[in-house]
Amino acid sequence: MKILVTGGLGYIGSHTVVELVNAGYTPVVIDNLSESDIEVKDRIEKIIGKEIIFEKVEMCHKEEMVAMFKKHPEIKGVIHFAAYLIVNESVNDPLKYYYNNLVSTIYLLEVMQEFNVPSIVFSSSCTVYGNPEELPVSENAPIQPAVSPYGNTKKMGEEILRDTAHAKDINVISLRYFNPIGAHESSIIGEFQDGPPHHLVPYITETARGLRQELKIFGNDWNTSDGTCVRDYIHVVDVAKAHISAVERLINNKIEHNFEVFNLGMGVGVSVLEMVNAFREATGISIKYSFAPRREGDVEAVYADTTKANSTLNWKTEKTLTDAMRDAWNWEQALMNEQKN
Ligand code: UDP
Repeated sequence: MKILVTGGLGYIGSHTVVELVNAGYTPVVIDNLSESDIEVKDRIEKIIGKEIIFEKVEMCHKEEMVAMFKKHPEIKGVIHFAAYLIVNESVNDPLKYYYNNLVSTIYLLEVMQEFNVPSIVFSSSCTVYGNPEELPVSENAPIQPAVSPYGNTKKMGEEILRDTAHAKDINVISLRYFNPIGAHESSIIGEFQDGPPHHLVPYITETARGLRQELKIFGNDWNTSDGTCVRDYIHVVDVAKAHISAVERLINNKIEHNFEVFNLGMGVGVSVLEMVNAFREATGISIKYSFAPRREGDVEAVYADTTKANSTLNWKTEKTLTDAMRDAWNWEQALMNEQKN
C-alpha cells in the first residue's frame, strides 16, 4: 500500500519514510527540495537497502500534485510534513510562510478529494498551546493565539483540516509534536543545519564539536526549578513511529472522530541546564555555556500529557533522553567526518 509523504526528505519526514518501509508500506516521497537535499534520498535508501519512490513536486503548483496522484493511484493515505519552519524567518517574511504552508495544505486537501484519498496525518506542534496554564498539557488545553507566523500556520492548518473534515469526506489525525531531537541510530540520517542551528540540541552538538564557542542559554530567571526553560524532548524515531500508528488508525477505519489530535512527547519536562547535563552523561563531554537574555517568544515551560496517544494510538516512546543525546552526537560526528573527506 502506498502512503504519500510530503516533505519526506526533511528531518522528521526522512525518519518516518524509514519507519514506513520497516512497517511494510511503500512511501511515495514528494519534496520541492527547498529546505532539503536530494542526497537524503540516497541516505534513506542506504538504511532500508532498496530504492524509494521520489517525485520532485512543488505543492503550491496544484497541477503538479494532480499529476503525481494520477501517476500513483495506489496512494491510500497521506502524511503531510512539507512546511517552512524557521520561527524568526516567519516573523520577517510572514507571507512566505502563510502562502507556502497554507496553500500547499489547501491544494493537498482538494486533490485528495479529487482522487478519493480520505486519510491525512498532519504535522502540528505544541506551539498551538502557547504558554499553557496547566502542566502537563493535554489535548483539551485551550489553543492560544500564535506568537509567530510559523506557529499561526500550524494553528490555521489544524483549523483548515478540522473544518474540511467536518464538511467533506476527509479524516484527519493531527500530531502535535513537542521537541523532536536525535537522529537515526545508524547516523545516516539526522537533522541538517543550514547555518547556525535554530534549536537547542544541534547547538549543543555543534558546540561540543568546536563549531560554536559556547551555548547561550536564553534566560536563567524563569519560574522553573533551575531558572531555565522547560521542554519535552522526544527522540525523532519515536515521533516517526507514531505516524505509522496514526496512518494505520486512519486507513483501518479505527477513528472515533474525523478530526483527532494527539500529543507526541515523552511526558517529561526537562530544563535547558538539565539538557546540558544529559548531554554530558550520554557522551562524557561538558560544553561551555553562559546565560543570555530571554529569547523573544519563548514559553516558560511546556510538556505533554501523553495519556491519549499512549492509550488510543497504542504508541509509546521507546527511546530515552540518553539515547537521543547519544544519537544526536553520533550524527554530528558523522557529519564532521563526511565534511572532512
Ligand atoms: N535554547 C537556548 N539556547 C539556544 C537554543 C535554545 O537556551 O541556543 C533554549 C530555548 O530558549 C528553549 C529551549 O532551549 O527554552 C528549546 O529551544 P528550541 O529552539 O530547541 O525549541 P522550541 O521549544 O523553542 O521550539
